[in-house]
Amino acid sequence: MAEKKWVYSFGDGKAEGAARLRDLLGGKGANLAEMSNIGLPVPPGFTITTEVCTAFYENDRAFPDGLKAQVETALAEVGRAIGANFGDAKNPLLVSVRSGARASMPGMMDTVLNLGLNDATAAGLAARAGDERFAYDSYRRFIAMYSDVVLGVEHHNFEEILEYFKEEQELKLDTELSAEDWKNIVTLFKARVEEELGRPFPQDVDEQLWGAISAVFGSWRNRRAETYRRLHNIPESWGTAVNIQAMVFGNMGETSATGVAFTRNPSTGEKDYYGEFLINAQGEDVVAGIRTPQSLTKKAREIAKDKKPSMEEAMPGAFAELAAVFDRLEKHYADMQDVEFTVQDGKLWMLQTRAGKRTAKAALKIAVEMVGEGLIDEKTAISRVDPASLDQLLHPTLDPDAPRDVLATGLPASPGAASGEVVFNSEEAASMRQIGKSVILVRVETSPEDINGMHSAAAILTTRGGMTSHAAVVARGMGRPCVSGAGTIRIDYKTETFTASGVTVKKGDVITVDGSTGQVLKGEIPTLQPELSGDFATLMGWADKHRRMEVRTNAETPHDAETARKFGAEGIGLCRTEHMFFDEDRIVAVRQMILADDAKGRRAPLDKILPMQRDDFRQLFEIMHGLPVTIRLLDPPLHEFLPKGDAEIAQVAADTGMPADKLVRRLAELAESNPMLGHRGCRLGISFPEIYEMQARAIFEGALEAAKKTGAPVIPEIMVPLVAMKTELDFLKARIDAVAAEVGKEQGVGLTYHVGTMIELPRAALMAREIAESAEFFSFGTNDLTQTTYGISRDDAAQFMNDYLGKKILMQDPFVSLDRDGVGELVRIAAERGRATRPGIKLGICGEHGGDPASIAFCEEVGLTYVSCSPYRVPIARLAAAQAALHMGAAAGTAGSTA
Ligand code: PEP
Ligand code: MG
Repeated sequence: MAEKKWVYSFGDGKAEGAARLRDLLGGKGANLAEMSNIGLPVPPGFTITTEVCTAFYENDRAFPDGLKAQVETALAEVGRAIGANFGDAKNPLLVSVRSGARASMPGMMDTVLNLGLNDATAAGLAARAGDERFAYDSYRRFIAMYSDVVLGVEHHNFEEILEYFKEEQELKLDTELSAEDWKNIVTLFKARVEEELGRPFPQDVDEQLWGAISAVFGSWRNRRAETYRRLHNIPESWGTAVNIQAMVFGNMGETSATGVAFTRNPSTGEKDYYGEFLINAQGEDVVAGIRTPQSLTKKAREIAKDKKPSMEEAMPGAFAELAAVFDRLEKHYADMQDVEFTVQDGKLWMLQTRAGKRTAKAALKIAVEMVGEGLIDEKTAISRVDPASLDQLLHPTLDPDAPRDVLATGLPASPGAASGEVVFNSEEAASMRQIGKSVILVRVETSPEDINGMHSAAAILTTRGGMTSHAAVVARGMGRPCVSGAGTIRIDYKTETFTASGVTVKKGDVITVDGSTGQVLKGEIPTLQPELSGDFATLMGWADKHRRMEVRTNAETPHDAETARKFGAEGIGLCRTEHMFFDEDRIVAVRQMILADDAKGRRAPLDKILPMQRDDFRQLFEIMHGLPVTIRLLDPPLHEFLPKGDAEIAQVAADTGMPADKLVRRLAELAESNPMLGHRGCRLGISFPEIYEMQARAIFEGALEAAKKTGAPVIPEIMVPLVAMKTELDFLKARIDAVAAEVGKEQGVGLTYHVGTMIELPRAALMAREIAESAEFFSFGTNDLTQTTYGISRDDAAQFMNDYLGKKILMQDPFVSLDRDGVGELVRIAAERGRATRPGIKLGICGEHGGDPASIAFCEEVGLTYVSCSPYRVPIARLAAAQAALHMGAAAGTAGSTA
């Protein structure tokens, strides 16, 4: 049987590996192989595969059979290529040993440079290079790095020695140290290692090599790497590869250098080489920040007003070579690259290349320009931009250069940043806004009564509630920045103060809320305004061309509807009518309606509300100009509209003219112990059909008016919430139909409309076959469906969600990203059963998941007709829907070709 291949060589214009072997060779190894294959100058070396990492951990950190021999053969080959020998005192080969996982994990794992140096080879290197200073500088670097990474003698030991030495000799810069100085430092370093370990620094180069290989594999499971993997969803089973490569030296004097660079500007996307380099230095010097690196190009140096020459000026030959490599790499990878390079004695060597990380703005610009340059096609451009990152472009963001004084961190519930004076109640927010003040509304939690205050506030901060709490959902809908569930903040409504991190903030003090990070900051922090450039529009246009699902919006105010249209919404998927009930001019009538004893008592207030609702709907229909508009009938528990506390009760008694004692009795009758599962949703319509009838009439009359005005036909979609049984829907549909017939008769027209239901309860999903006999469309209310499937209250989840996430019981908050396995299965079942009864039934999603890219991908898989999300997420949904469609298309293509 052929021996398993553990080691892949590269360099010298050829390689055993290639970019496509990324899983086996890791990103760095695969790209070193790829660069070798396309003839770029790569120092020779080899990659030990990720399979060795797996074997290493399976065998109690022992290496698999055959590895040792394969490494020895590969190392000898590297020596031949470079004309040196590992451990040879006269002509030593030195190597670097570096990690490289499938996904880039910058700085998380270990690296050792200059390996192969000992007392004998250091002397040999000095003689051979004709440069003692270089040899002993390299040796001291190696001792410090190896001791830190492999032997556990921490870096500060060596820093202390060096600092003390420089002080004594009255030297400032490392570059001022002579060969003799470095020799002395080497002696001191070795003594410190022996002191710490009780044994000398290893002189045996093989021991050095295997020590370093073990340490790098071992670093796959260090705490830093584990945390990084958790944050970035990188499976532990992937493992890392280890790359061993002949050293090239950037510290060989003034004709040598080392640097890092991007082939385009990673923060703006401009097509400019972007990077830094240092003359007479090794890689770690650039990152360590001990010396200030110099600009790569003359242009960048001039902009930075830097006195030291750029690489373009100081090393024109090597720079020209590097620029040619950049162009070659971009053409080959068809993407912006992030590279490391070294110049040894005037000759350029490439040490790494990978796709460069970039801001959303840069991602858009690069994707659009690369299509223009013919490097990629539109589909690839669409895949290059992370939909969630578009948020960075749609909202004001905090100036990244401004100092921050963080008071507390909560959930990043609604993106954007704003500063303002703290207020603790909604009335005050509204009145302060009227006199032109920017205010931050700070509440323990918000309720529908706070709508006005939330609208008046520049941002909202709550100490309780999760990502689908009232505050979070409403703030996202309005495009207001919001931090929710900032549990370390203590609010005292009485004294109108809150405390956080030992600081007391009073009403009127200025704070800043960053809804993109969840941070609450002291004072005002400058923000940067969004710029929706041409690139944004171009990419969105491509996304629209390639997506299958429609994108609608959740909106109930004309302002939100207009914003959503501007962002490209193709209709309204959810209009939550109850949000319209809180306006000052109608809340009294709404309360009278709820507090009434019987249908007769409800009549008069309903008659008052009707014209207002009709006007609300007319406006929405007009803004949407013939696009579909789904209006949901009243949904929330009624007590949300009712007063709490003596003062409010007295006020409501005065407003409604109801005696206070009667009001208190009625409030007690209406109280529920579990309102989320209580008298809400269609249950209200069953108990009080006249409410739904009034709403249906308002919808039909509003639609007729809008159609007359705009000339565009309006086909309203009326949606019944929280249905569990077909009989509920049938009861209500009969009433809606009757109202339609009535209105049609009154106005002498035939009305076209659709009646459908939300699927928000497991029973509704299971009974979808029957429900679809009556429902003309389904809209998945995945907020409630998640709540009822898990049995986790939306309003209380924040209190323990972090424990679940921290203890890895949940990998993701299911209220943020749809739980494919459980809730998703119900969605799938309902879609299938609904279609079985009514082929072509319109299926949408209007829970918060409708704006989450991963959930949108799921919606594409189950073939929903549309997703609906808050206005500011519409562009994100458009792009995510396009990516999902392209992904499905590609997957179908692959399946087809293998079949
Ligand atoms: C839902 O439950 O997903 C939904 C959209 O309705 P609401 O959030 O208003 O309960
Ligand atoms: Mg719901």
